[in-house]
Amino acid sequence: MSGGKRFAADIMVGRLARWLRVLGLNARSVVLSGREVVESLISEGCIPVTRSRKFRDIDGVAFIRSDRSFEQLLEVISLVSITREEVRPFSRCTLCNARLVPVAREAVFGAVADYVFETAIDFCRCPDCARVYWPGSHRRKMIAKLESLTGWVGLGSEGEQCGAK
Ligand SMILES: [Zn+2]
Repeated sequence: MSGGKRFAADIMVGRLARWLRVLGLNARSVVLSGREVVESLISEGCIPVTRSRKFRDIDGVAFIRSDRSFEQLLEVISLVSITREEVRPFSRCTLCNARLVPVAREAVFGAVADYVFETAIDFCRCPDCARVYWPGSHRRKMIAKLESLTGWVGLGSEGEQCGAK
């Protein structure tokens, strides 16, 4: 699982990067300022994701055509052959890409709204930015959207905390 694909998403496709992270894919945001940066990322085993035509001819770049994030997501899935088995929804922070860790319910008191604290059971936290995540209606909506988009089933059925296996 740790040997999975690593994406380096151009800051111009920030929303796409967030959707990749929602799926649990390793997608950090980078400034693709020039060809050297792109080539160096590829040599590190990363897959640069960009809409910049400057880089479209570079072997190893995932060049995206659409300007809509859901279409872009489908483009990436197709371009680099992401499979259902590779995704682990809600296992990463959607903001900073860090892998989420389970956190005790008591530990999030005050960090989430009272009604969330009272109703949710499983909480995860980002070790980098401290953002707290929990299963809820917002997550179910995203799952439904992603399932209808990709045709993948059971994205919400992992059931375990922090998208862990
Ligand atoms: Zn974070």
